[in-house]
Amino acid sequence: MNYIVFDLEWNQCPEGREKQNPALPFEIIEIGAIRLTEDLRPDGEFSALISPKVYHSLHYQVRRMLSYTMKDLKKGRPFPEVCREFLAFAGEDPTFVTWGPGDLTELERNMAFYRIPNPFPMPFLYLDAQKLYSLQNQDGKKRLSLENAFRELGLDKEEGHFHRAIADARYTSDIFQTIDLKRFGHYKSVDLYRIPDSRAKEYHLNFGTYEKYVTRGFTERESAMKNKDLQQARCYICGKPLTKKVRWFVDNQGHAYGLFSCPEHGLIKGRFRVRQAPSGLYYGIRILKQTDEKGAARIRLRKEKEAERMRRKAEEAKKEERKKDGWQAP
Ligand SMILES: [Zn+2]
Repeated sequence: MNYIVFDLEWNQCPEGREKQNPALPFEIIEIGAIRLTEDLRPDGEFSALISPKVYHSLHYQVRRMLSYTMKDLKKGRPFPEVCREFLAFAGEDPTFVTWGPGDLTELERNMAFYRIPNPFPMPFLYLDAQKLYSLQNQDGKKRLSLENAFRELGLDKEEGHFHRAIADARYTSDIFQTIDLKRFGHYKSVDLYRIPDSRAKEYHLNFGTYEKYVTRGFTERESAMKNKDLQQARCYICGKPLTKKVRWFVDNQGHAYGLFSCPEHGLIKGRFRVRQAPSGLYYGIRILKQTDEKGAARIRLRKEKEAERMRRKAEEAKKEERKKDGWQAP
């Protein structure tokens, strides 16, 4: 097994979203990677510029960030060629490491655009060094920029221009090497460019302190929301059916919350949301996590607030209706 710490730079439609190619909103223009052995020793670098095929000038934001121009990119090589080399560099059974989520999804989307077969496993797990950094040094929820995390660690190294893929991969690798993987290495992330294509291929990932469940896709958002598998939860520790304490309710952001209890493992909170996959299908992603009375109280409070919001909304709708009728309260 190798760790492949990598970073991508991509361009997007310079004339704005309306004119973008929907099959390739983000066109990869650079790949940079560091290969680390299982015991984190550096074992090679990969760096390549890609000559663009879809967008022929740089979006102004991209131009502002990068240290090179479209002229430099034109000297790069086609994506399929660079991608094949990158996959060969990654070797068999790589564990990818990125700063933040999203890079693997864009890599897969670019591969699909060029009809390069997707060689990655399902579920496709990777390590998000930004998340691991937060778990080790912050509250686990905050997210620092690569540059700020690097400065905060006081790593006295110059790895090159930030937002140069190879430099960012080196910075990420330097930070990754400070992570205690025995404590945090099991907090894997899952890339959701592809989702399970049948019920049998759905997965429950148990991270010890919580469980993540990813459902198959549905053509309608509504059917994904009402999916019984998503709503009926089992304890992720012992597998026993859970008793409902607070029925699932949905807030104005479309996030569902619920509270359950296991006879053996006590209170368990749940939340899920439905997202649309790049394929257009809707799937559910649910987290179950052990909680205590305080956590349970927070969910009950959230539910009350939500009910209050719905009540006010209904009242306002009624008022509007009466206005239309020209009706006046006596
Ligand atoms: Zn249990």
